[in-house]
Amino acid sequence: MREIRVLGDPVLRTPAEPVEGFDRELRRLIDEMFEAMYAVDGVGLAGPQIGVPRRLFVYDINRRKGHMINPVLTVDDPEEVLDEEGCLSVPDRQTGTPIYATVARAAGVTVEGFDRLGRPQRVKARGSLARCFQHETEHLDGRLYVDRLPKPDARKIMLRT
Ligand SMILES: [Zn+2]
Repeated sequence: MREIRVLGDPVLRTPAEPVEGFDRELRRLIDEMFEAMYAVDGVGLAGPQIGVPRRLFVYDINRRKGHMINPVLTVDDPEEVLDEEGCLSVPDRQTGTPIYATVARAAGVTVEGFDRLGRPQRVKARGSLARCFQHETEHLDGRLYVDRLPKPDARKIMLRT
């Protein structure tokens, strides 16, 4: 089982490289990412979160399940929506569960990328799936949801990790 990396691990702050080979190794990696995500009841997981600095993520949220390789995110509806958001890589030191905070995100996005066989795919999303796509895509650029919070709020979260 792949270990989930937490805040303080440099891999989470390193921009990930594009996936190049659509081979068996990639398909195994995707399976392992789902396994690691389900093991901790997550709804999304990006490569860097298991120490793989590659541009891909998996998700399973509100009955929308999938994976996206080399994603490019476009904002379709920039209206800001506030909602609770947590991250498997930002766990509370005492409980081990994700710390949640209210984060502003765009209401609607489209993600374009490739599937495990290298076929182009595009998913349009609103609501929690749109939030998930924005969160996971940011992981690939070495960013975390705490970066979007006011500094004092981010600091409070850091103290709990
Ligand atoms: Zn996350």
